[in-house]
Amino acid sequence: IEQTAYQNDKLAMLGKIAASIAHEIRNPLTSIRGFIQLLRPHLFQLGKEEYARIILAEIDRANDIIYEFLNSSKPSAPMKQNVHIGSLLKEVIMLCESEALMKGSEIQYEAYDDQMTTSVDVKQVKQVFLNMMRNAMEAIEEISEERSGRIDIVIRRDGSYAEITVRDNGKGMDHTVQNRLFDPFFTTKEAGTGLGLAVSYRIVRNHGGSIRVTSSSGEGTDFKIYLPLVE
Ligand code: ADP
Ligand code: MG
Repeated sequence: IEQTAYQNDKLAMLGKIAASIAHEIRNPLTSIRGFIQLLRPHLFQLGKEEYARIILAEIDRANDIIYEFLNSSKPSAPMKQNVHIGSLLKEVIMLCESEALMKGSEIQYEAYDDQMTTSVDVKQVKQVFLNMMRNAMEAIEEISEERSGRIDIVIRRDGSYAEITVRDNGKGMDHTVQNRLFDPFFTTKEAGTGLGLAVSYRIVRNHGGSIRVTSSSGEGTDFKIYLPLVE
């Protein structure tokens, strides 16, 4: 699937909107954080210090998300370093394993070559893998009554590229969805952002790679990510 000039314009605009929204959200979060700190001794006296701890942790998490999002949506060039792409992928799988089980799916990982070196922005590429796995889990979650979920992740060499497959047996997509998948803000989910794939697409393109999708409605989806190898 080729990205059109139209989508590129929308992405550039998205980067700008994201930066200003993030800024506007961060300020109130900082002031909430400060006031909770001030209330902490009082909460302690009430035996409710645990509440303060939870609020602070959640504020920090929200800040992290904004930071991650800004990081992946700003149009800057990636900060590349040479890494074994297999170990990076493994790290993200380990992060997702318990979440996958909770959502009714199991992750199977097969590495035909985990010694492949790529030159990547580690944070950005992890974000791509995470977005793909999240989508797979969510596609399975929606039909988990019907069958048990399975996510197959495969890494192998394809010529001068590392090929990473994320395949699920979730709800799949019809052609209308497949055509709009990479559009910023396109989502079929109630609480979706529609940004995961738009951002992933841009990250992969910035790395000189590509993404291919095949999907069948009601059966599942197969995403393939190609990243150029360092020879
Ligand atoms: P979000 O997950 O917030 O909806 P994404 O950009 O990650 O945004 O995905 C856009 C849409 O593409 C999703 O709403 C869903 O309809 C579809 N999609 C993406 N991945 C899958 C998948 N593995 N299986 C089925 N549909 C998917
Ligand atoms: Mg998503």
